[in-house]
Amino acid sequence: MKHENHAGQRIIIASNRLPFTVERRNGEIEFTASVGGVATGLKSLLDAMPSFSSAAPEYVWVGWPGGAIDEEQKEEVRSRARSDFRSHPVFFSEEDFEAFYQGFCNKTIWPLFHYFPSNASYDDTYWLQYKKVNKVFKESLLELLRQDDILWIHDYHLMLLPNLVRKELPKLRVGFFLHIPFPHFEIFRLLPAAWRREILEGLLGADLIGFHTHDYMEYFLRCVQRLLGYKHKIGQLVLGHRMVKVAAFPMGVDFRKFHGAAKSPEVRKEREKLRRSLSDAKIVLSVDRQDYSKGIIHRLQGFETMLEQDPRWHGKVTLLMVVVPSRIGIQDYEGMKKQIEELVGKINGRFGAIHWTPIIYQYRSVPFDSLVALYAISDVALVTPLRDGMNLVAKEYIASRTDLTGVLILSEMAGAAKELAEAIIINPNHREEIADALKTALEIPRKEQIRRNRIMQNRLRRHDVARWATDFIKELFAMEPAHDKFYAKRLNLAATMGLVGHYDQSTHRLLLFDYDGTLVPFASHPQAAKPDRELLSLLHGLGADPRNELVLLSGRDKGTLENWFGSLTMGLVAEHGAWLKERYRPWTIIEPLNADWKTKLLPTLDAYADRVPGAFVEEKEFSIVWHYRNADPDRAALAARELTDDLLAFTATIDVQVLQGNKAVEVRNARVHKGTASQRWLSKSSFDFILAAGDDWTDEDTFAILPERAYSIRVGMTPTQARFHLRGPEEVLRLLKMLSKSHYTDGFYDHGSESPVHQ
Ligand code: UDP
Repeated sequence: MKHENHAGQRIIIASNRLPFTVERRNGEIEFTASVGGVATGLKSLLDAMPSFSSAAPEYVWVGWPGGAIDEEQKEEVRSRARSDFRSHPVFFSEEDFEAFYQGFCNKTIWPLFHYFPSNASYDDTYWLQYKKVNKVFKESLLELLRQDDILWIHDYHLMLLPNLVRKELPKLRVGFFLHIPFPHFEIFRLLPAAWRREILEGLLGADLIGFHTHDYMEYFLRCVQRLLGYKHKIGQLVLGHRMVKVAAFPMGVDFRKFHGAAKSPEVRKEREKLRRSLSDAKIVLSVDRQDYSKGIIHRLQGFETMLEQDPRWHGKVTLLMVVVPSRIGIQDYEGMKKQIEELVGKINGRFGAIHWTPIIYQYRSVPFDSLVALYAISDVALVTPLRDGMNLVAKEYIASRTDLTGVLILSEMAGAAKELAEAIIINPNHREEIADALKTALEIPRKEQIRRNRIMQNRLRRHDVARWATDFIKELFAMEPAHDKFYAKRLNLAATMGLVGHYDQSTHRLLLFDYDGTLVPFASHPQAAKPDRELLSLLHGLGADPRNELVLLSGRDKGTLENWFGSLTMGLVAEHGAWLKERYRPWTIIEPLNADWKTKLLPTLDAYADRVPGAFVEEKEFSIVWHYRNADPDRAALAARELTDDLLAFTATIDVQVLQGNKAVEVRNARVHKGTASQRWLSKSSFDFILAAGDDWTDEDTFAILPERAYSIRVGMTPTQARFHLRGPEEVLRLLKMLSKSHYTDGFYDHGSESPVHQ
């Protein structure tokens, strides 16, 4: 990225909440800073912004300011939000926002994406409210957005927004980051069919989609593949004329802020105060929002088991548990609070003594200095979420350990576990594992603590929150906003005239044609798409012209091609490039190929053919194809996606490719494709006219290797690397006729038509 280019460019950040809340007190409007992972992280990003670009981009933050704001106060909020917070508020009534936030966001997506399907509800009114709020966000954004802005949308509240904006501003650069986990397909599919589809399509409106970990990214891509049928190539999806990139950007913390604060006089004072009140006991700390995903009960049970198993620690260790109230009012949370309090009471009653309280529990948020002081005095941090997108507390604890001591116990279900491998990693579902980890943690030698924490600190220092934001924005800047290269032009009158004129004047021509879908329409069975006499005579004419080198590149087997075209003066390519036959020569194999994998995969394809009436398997020498043209379209399309997914998993370690053809799924050797075959002819001579036509993406391999001046034609109105489009085989045939009689083309054109080859 060249930073200089971004001068004047704005980054628009859209998130559910603004980094502040507006409240009315005694008729006056008051602004207070918001608390929470996303808000905290993004605030640091905005502060860090000037450091990653010499011409710091402007930014505007768009979101809900909270609270009920009267009509007459909106202008004041708008103007203060703009001047003091660089923000653009999106207004909702408190009821509307609550229904959205407490409804679809927190009763459907949150539980499902955190693997609590039994807590999820599937209520149509929630869904409609979710759609409505996303639309209101879109409207607000449209008031503000300019074509050259970049828009960065955050989190699960706004998953429909990327596509809503994309429809209005097709060329805008849009990024999306999900701050919570993205679940496995089996969980995601629990959403009703129409919703899950709209959510995926909503997200795919973005150019760049970011997740905390590779796992989440993979799960997302798999859902896209299974539910929408789009396959990715190393995280890149080609959708129509757009490219979407999916990548992992693990979010960091503001390392310097925590590390610096831990040494500050304010925090030192807090520490001393805490130390005096906590006697000499070792401190185990936990800090989280009250949420069922955080494993608070599991943690208490693990601590209880440790005290049961190891009385040596009685009187010598205290669990300091800070629970920050959140989403009060939801039944799940009220019940959970009661459960936590009962369990704390039970453990304290069972093990406590006059001079020792095993668990000190605080149900309240803590100011920043006190939080850092807690991190700094605690011997162990116990972080046990059952599922957590990232978990910043774990990272903040490590960042605050200025003397490098301290032990982190971290759940493997937190995204942070992927980066903090030197922590004691546990499965929080097993209370014995938590108990064992606590015992180990309390006894790890100081030297070992320092060794581990040094590694983790170095990592966290390098990958801080500014780096996270910078990486994401850089990637988004680097994406091409207008994907013009995917738009081919229609081969219209002028272009056809040019092509035919060039053909006439040239003396050494290469003509490459795909067969099915290009020269003949698809038939219900491959053998039915036989060339008719007219086509054979056209090919015969073109092939017989000494100035022409004519080649047919097909996915078909060589027997069929030989049978149909063997007597013509032309080159043939079978099985997408595995077999080649030059004019007047016998068939040869392109390189030694292995087909042992076929016997292993055939049963899978057969099983799918049995399941779907009308589907059948075709075996060729170096590939196998599952055809479904004659099957029920919906059922077969679903089965084709599942089959592709199964095959991809099966074939990950062998050198084969799984390809979505036209109503077919094909498995073939990875190194063989039409591009390699075309190259054979291309390198034979220097041609002064090159024409290639094909209808599916196997032909894209040919288009990719052609010189720029070549006439490449994609049949069908799909995105392509080819220069031109034609609508169907009839138009290709017309073009062939024009070429074969190009010296008397006058009168052939249909001047009334947009395209001379189309009537
Ligand atoms: N935090 C806070 N006030 C508190 C306790 C914690 O602002 O009283 C912050 C903490 O520093 C951390 C965030 O809340 O940055 C919690 O983020 P995490 O990723 O651990 O969990 P989330 O709440 O986002 O699920």
